Amino acid sequence: MGMIECTSGTSLWRGYDYYKENKVENLIETSPGIFTADVKGTSDEPYVVEIDIAHPRKSKCNCPHADGKRIVCKHMMAVYFTAFPEEAQRIYNEAIAYQEEEEKHAEELYEKVRQYVWKMKKSESQQALLELLFDGPEWQFDRFVREHNLEDDYY
Ligand SMILES: [Zn+2]
Repeated sequence: MGMIECTSGTSLWRGYDYYKENKVENLIETSPGIFTADVKGTSDEPYVVEIDIAHPRKSKCNCPHADGKRIVCKHMMAVYFTAFPEEAQRIYNEAIAYQEEEEKHAEELYEKVRQYVWKMKKSESQQALLELLFDGPEWQFDRFVREHNLEDDYY
C-alpha cells in the first residue's frame, strides 16, 4: 500500500494544506524511496520527518501523534506531496471530480423528486404533506403554521 492508502482522510488533507503552505523544508532523498525533511508545525521546533515510500508505516515523525507509532501523520503526507507534487495534483483533481459527481447526483435526484411530486394526485400530495408536517422536524411545522398564518385564530 502507498502513503495515501495508509493515512487517514484528515491527515491526508492537513498534509496537503501543509504542502501548499510550503511548510516542508530541507527535503532530501537520502536513499531511493527514503526522504527526510523538516516540517513546520504548531510547536516552535520543526518536526523531523522521514518517509519510506515502499513501507509507509516505517516512516517516522517526532510529532506527538505519530512518535513511536506506525501511523502516517499529516507531516509525513506534507513531505510526500512535496517530494511528489504530481501526486498532490492527482488527489486534488480526484477530490474535485468526486465533488462534481456528487453535485450532479444531487441535482438529478432533485429533478427526479420534482417530477414525481408534479405527477402525484392531489389526495396523495396532501397526505404526503401532512406526513412531512407531523413527522418532520418541529421547525418545519412551525414554519408552515407561520407562513400560512394558522396561529392567528388563537389570538
Ligand atoms: Zn507528524
